[in-house]
Amino acid sequence: MTAADRVLITGGAGFLGSHLCERLLAEGYEVLCLDSLLTGRVVNVQHLRDHPRFTFLQGDVTQPIEIDGPVHYVLQFASPASPKDYAQYPIHTLQVGAAGTYHALELANRKGAVILLASSSEVYGDPRENPQSEEYWGYVNPVGPRSVYDEAKRYAEAITMAYHRAHRVPVRIARIFNTYGPRMRLEDGRALPTMMAQALLGEPLTVYGDGSQTRSFCYVSDLVDGLFKFLTLDGSSQGGQDGNILNLGNPEEVTIHQLAQEIIRTTNSRSRIVFRPLPEDDPKVRRPDIRRASRFLGWQPRVSLAEGLKLVTPYFSAAVGKG
Ligand code: UDP
Repeated sequence: MTAADRVLITGGAGFLGSHLCERLLAEGYEVLCLDSLLTGRVVNVQHLRDHPRFTFLQGDVTQPIEIDGPVHYVLQFASPASPKDYAQYPIHTLQVGAAGTYHALELANRKGAVILLASSSEVYGDPRENPQSEEYWGYVNPVGPRSVYDEAKRYAEAITMAYHRAHRVPVRIARIFNTYGPRMRLEDGRALPTMMAQALLGEPLTVYGDGSQTRSFCYVSDLVDGLFKFLTLDGSSQGGQDGNILNLGNPEEVTIHQLAQEIIRTTNSRSRIVFRPLPEDDPKVRRPDIRRASRFLGWQPRVSLAEGLKLVTPYFSAAVGKG
């Protein structure tokens, strides 16, 4: 029997990171989960800690990463990821995207590993094109409140492609659109967990602006499927640079007002909707063009928003203490 391939996942105790740890273990990999626990949580990986192929390492990717032995894959998933979190940790968010991605790339280069970068639809900023395809360069305010995250991800993409060009590191850049599922923090400030909690507690749902801005929400199992396919995509089947950069998300676009209504319906809530000021630079539209991902990975999401909200309700019910 050959030893399992080893994966290092930074941000492994976060929402997406912990679901990836689970999937990678189920696929037979050895998983090294690195997390500073700034926004990640031990409880997300508690059930994995006795697994013989799982190791938790507490550490911050803004410092150099030292790992003994082979590493076959590096997944750079460390970063505060909600607008509320990156507003609270602006400098650290920039540092994680910049120094953190640099250290992850250095490790991948030293170990001869494939690296998968968790990038974001935020690289498109407040887009002037809808849907957004990978060819779109984005419309980003470089000095606005969201710039600490947007520009960090743009820098992370740039340095990832630089390592690919200069050192031939095999790279995958996943531009991840809004994703939801169990283990999202109730207090992370994002629309979906905030409004789920409000609906379940019978409090008013806070819609920012007039609620006409759109987002497209992907259920976590679909996203993890796409990420796993991307990670393990045979490099030789890639056609030029295109296959290095993929949008991953669900193209089912809804207004935030519709999302609030759908959440009220799903949870049988009697809550009403209240309107609050729209945050600065809040993107007006967001919807992934996933034709490229579908071509390269044979992937597309399966879970509709209506189904996903039903699937996630027990988690949020338990999280608000009504489970
Ligand atoms: N939003 C809202 N109510 C909330 C939280 C967010 O209406 O309690 C809006 C927010 O202004 C944005 C959308 O919902 O237009 C999605 O916000 P989120 O923070 O989930 O993530 P984003 O897609 O902006 O990164």
